[in-house]
Amino acid sequence: MTGTVVKSTGSWYIVREHGTLALHRCRLRGKFKHKGLKVSNPLAVGDVVEFSVEEQTEGAGVIDHIEPRRNYIIRRSVHKTEHAHIVAANLDQALLVVTLASPATSFGFIDRFLVTAEAYSIPATLVFNKIDLYDEELLDYLGQVQKLYERIGYPTLRCSAETGAGLDAIDALLDGKTTLLSGHSGVGKSTLINALVPDLDLRTDYISEYSDKGKHTTTFAEMLDVRPGTYLIDTPGIKELALVDIKPGELAHFFPEMRERLNQCRYHNCRHVEEPGCAIHEAVEKGKIALPRYESYLSMLAGEDNRR
Ligand code: GDP
Ligand code: ZN
Repeated sequence: MTGTVVKSTGSWYIVREHGTLALHRCRLRGKFKHKGLKVSNPLAVGDVVEFSVEEQTEGAGVIDHIEPRRNYIIRRSVHKTEHAHIVAANLDQALLVVTLASPATSFGFIDRFLVTAEAYSIPATLVFNKIDLYDEELLDYLGQVQKLYERIGYPTLRCSAETGAGLDAIDALLDGKTTLLSGHSGVGKSTLINALVPDLDLRTDYISEYSDKGKHTTTFAEMLDVRPGTYLIDTPGIKELALVDIKPGELAHFFPEMRERLNQCRYHNCRHVEEPGCAIHEAVEKGKIALPRYESYLSMLAGEDNRR
């Protein structure tokens, strides 16, 4: 049988069977080694697997094969000695929930996320939540911020998870895809998930029956069904995705508006800081590259950690 891993507790995996959509509790047969990267988990949410249900395992499935991943995102451990953790695999797109109020998301946080999505080649959309709290002035500013990101090529949406405004457009964006949902805490991610995923409480209970209770389950990603074929991957407790080893000299490649100007710099190894004849610098001065984006670039280049 073939299925998709929708939840992992570390030792058990919940697999959704393709076709029937039935959920199976599965274990891994033997040891799987991840090629290349050293990781702490062999199998992640979103992985497509082959499994069988055998009599002697009392209804539990046994996974014997993992399909190659189209892509995957990792969370690096704070302790460098530990292995990276695969958060999710086979994503179609990523959605970052942000807000301009209560509490405002910083450009730094948004841009770090977008750079990460670029590095993983995962299309990203920004969703501005809590618009019911914005006054006229803030809505005006929101329009400018949206324009800033749209011009670079990132779609943006606005919504209120509380009032339901704008949720139809989000649902349409999700349709037929597997979407990673991200956002800093307090931004309204849970409220949004509750509004988008039907029968969430029932589903969560059903799956948690199979989970090893109290075993770090909250730090694992989970794939939620919006409807058959449309899935949301929630990553509770994960504030930020790991930047996969981007060298300082390559950072500008992950800013699309810089990427297209890189061959115009006088020096091929230009870092776009204070070098003469820098096309990026010039574009910033002429207002063709937004200053906050350039500031995010400089702060990431300096290795600053403006996580908020
Ligand atoms: P999470 O930490 O991102 O999961 O955020 P929650 O969904 O728990 O929401 C944090 C707080 O913001 C809660 O008090 C929510 O009721 C509130 N909230 C979420 N979405 C909205 C919204 O669209 N408008 C308003 N006014 N409050 C919201
Ligand atoms: Zn330059």
